[in-house]
Amino acid sequence: MLDFCVIGTGISGSTIAKLLNQKFSVNVYDKAKGIGGRSSFKRLNGKIGFDHGLQYLSPRSLKFKRFTKELTRKKILKFWGGNHKFLNKSVKKKNKHIKLIGVNGNSDISKYQLKNIKFYHQYELSKINRHNKVWNLQFQNGQVIKSKNLIVSIPFPQCKKLLSKFVRTSLFKNKVIMNSSLTVLLMTNKTSNNYSSYFTNDKILGWVSNENSKKRFTYNKDLWVLQSTFEYGRKNIDSYKNKKTYFTKILINRFKNITKIKISKIYFTHIHGWKYSSNSKPLKSDSYWDRKIGLGICGDWFGGPRLEDGWLSANNLFKKIVGKK
Ligand SMILES: Cc1cc2nc3c(=O)[nH]c(=O)nc-3n(C[C@H](O)[C@H](O)[C@H](O)COP(=O)(O)OP(=O)(O)OC[C@H]3O[C@@H](n4cnc5c(N)ncnc54)[C@H](O)[C@@H]3O)c2cc1C
Repeated sequence: MLDFCVIGTGISGSTIAKLLNQKFSVNVYDKAKGIGGRSSFKRLNGKIGFDHGLQYLSPRSLKFKRFTKELTRKKILKFWGGNHKFLNKSVKKKNKHIKLIGVNGNSDISKYQLKNIKFYHQYELSKINRHNKVWNLQFQNGQVIKSKNLIVSIPFPQCKKLLSKFVRTSLFKNKVIMNSSLTVLLMTNKTSNNYSSYFTNDKILGWVSNENSKKRFTYNKDLWVLQSTFEYGRKNIDSYKNKKTYFTKILINRFKNITKIKISKIYFTHIHGWKYSSNSKPLKSDSYWDRKIGLGICGDWFGGPRLEDGWLSANNLFKKIVGKK
């Protein structure tokens, strides 16, 4: 029987899996088709694609700086250069932070962490039982997995729904409000754009990235990621699915108005709503571990809105599991 079953292949799940794998047997399961969760890469053709969620890393803590330095040395991460245009004066300072991205896509970090670890896609954990000190995990696809310990690394609201029966502390009494956002992936004619990204001061469109500027591919068309503000995301996350064309047009029109980029042809669009994009209010703990029943929880939402917070949470959980905390 497995020592550890980890749910989620985002940074938190893949990081805790890598750490545990040094000492225990570990399998990882994710409901999605690909790796990376909110740092997934939507591949169109060969190397051509979009960073669908997470845009870039700007490491802050010394520990994470060391980790990203190592990954840059190993050519998993690289610098994202070019001109980053900040239209919002109040966030101008952010321009000073370095921007790191995956060499092939931002899911590269999770892929690196999961090297040599067994992981399974399209496994959505839907029911959990604990019997005779063993977790019985039932997945949507009908599979049942038994494991001595269970680690869950999914967003707070989904975690609360699955685990409230088993968590005995006040963890789920915390008010964690995860921001929402709408993302449009867009392919246009080659334009005369000079910027790698735009951080706007608009109420609807918050961020634009030019995927060609990441230099993962050369292509005769321009690829863009348009992300709504959290405010616009919150208002429309529950209704956008019935009006996808409408919301796609709104974001594209904001993009054209703000950047003044001349677009003569659109070849591809795709809209996605991130209901649980990020939590901007850190909790008092960095992770959750109940040794008695072998239940662990980690995720970015313990620490803040960034991938770095997920990585730190997973490292914190590992220390609790092996008794160093
Ligand atoms: C649009 C957007 C832009 C962002 N931009 C940035 C940025 O520029 N910089 C930055 O640092 N951070 C950014 N973030 C935040 C960053 O993406 C997250 O902090 C980080 O990816 C969270 O990783 P995680 O492993 O904690 O969670 P996730 O990546 O959400 O991983 C959880 C995984 O669990 C899976 N899952 C959920 N429920 C189940 C279930 N029942 N059964 C099985 N699997 C399940 C999901 O499919 C997912 O793969 C952004 C996020 C979004 C959405």
